[in-house]
Amino acid sequence: MSTGKDYYAILGVNKTASQEEIKKAYRKLALKYHPDRNPGDKTAEEKFKEINEAYDILKDEQKRAAYDHYGSSAFQNGGASGFSNQGFKDFADFSDIFSNMFGDIFGNSSGGNSGYRNRRYSEARSSPPGANIRYDITITLEEALVNTKKKIKYKTYNKCSRCNGSGCENSKGPSACPQCGGRGSVRQQHGFITIDTICQHCGGSGSVISNPCKECHGSGRVIGERNLEINIPAGIGASNELLVKQEGEAGYQGGPNGDLIIFVNLLPHDFFTVKGVDLHCTVYIPITTAILGGELIVNDLSGKDHTIKIPHGTQSNTQFVISSCGLYNRSTRRYGDIFVNIIVETPVDLSKSQQEVMEKFYKDPAFINNNPKSKYSQEQINKLKK
Ligand SMILES: [Zn+2]
Ligand SMILES: [Zn+2]
Repeated sequence: MSTGKDYYAILGVNKTASQEEIKKAYRKLALKYHPDRNPGDKTAEEKFKEINEAYDILKDEQKRAAYDHYGSSAFQNGGASGFSNQGFKDFADFSDIFSNMFGDIFGNSSGGNSGYRNRRYSEARSSPPGANIRYDITITLEEALVNTKKKIKYKTYNKCSRCNGSGCENSKGPSACPQCGGRGSVRQQHGFITIDTICQHCGGSGSVISNPCKECHGSGRVIGERNLEINIPAGIGASNELLVKQEGEAGYQGGPNGDLIIFVNLLPHDFFTVKGVDLHCTVYIPITTAILGGELIVNDLSGKDHTIKIPHGTQSNTQFVISSCGLYNRSTRRYGDIFVNIIVETPVDLSKSQQEVMEKFYKDPAFINNNPKSKYSQEQINKLKK
């Protein structure tokens, strides 16, 4: 940085200029000397750097006061002001300052054409990204258990291949707006008052596409199909989201793609219900197994068999746990469990001989003692009757 620069002179404003005046002056000069409009012109590039440097200081009241007091030497390396060089780091990308400026003045989301022509000016660097897209996918529990690949297909904006996103039919790119001569604003005289208003023709960008691409009509993108193979990592469960970067809509005129957000849903399972990463199931066992004891084989989602020992005298709603065979928990990096709930089934449609066996049990006065809970309940009821 050279010393002793007159930032006010560079921007063509006087020392008492208001922030509004400084901003206005900067915008005009920035439009005039912007590198996009002066390709290969070293003088314009230098000038552009200079006006950015001046604007960076003068837009900040604190820096401006230091500059007024010490001059531009206050902002050199090791300068006395204590501002260090922090401010100059902002100069790294001039187009950023430039697009911020535009944002300030015109509003980034100004409606209709003006908004989009606006973005034209500083090319892809400041073109906003395309919208994010939501995609809902339903997978089975078996698929949720492991890393799964899925092919998906959706409609979205793709970058126009004819113009490669530029929106221009030929490689010439956008040209200066004929209405405002590239200034982005037009001057209107009302008696003694002169007002600068945003040019309606170019929306303030100062440039127009005179020869729009025949395929995308200047937008730089076309509706099309996108085919994608996505990886669904193990443990993605109900109401989980999966972000696929840059697979959303293509941006306007070369702007970057938005993202694809995949909402993963689980298909209900015939046998298991899902609670977090745990799986729950209900298994009926015959009364004989419940009385005499036995074995129960439960299949997990991967198809593996697990043998559960049923002790004799097992009651309904007894729960058995098969550890670490549930779904994968991505945060704890462990697997959930399988909970097996036992229901003892009461036999139906007994044959005559079966019925006789049961009647034997019923008539045995000791049988009630084999059913301690039933016995206790009956005693409670008898008490109430008295
Ligand atoms: Zn095109
Ligand atoms: Zn214009």
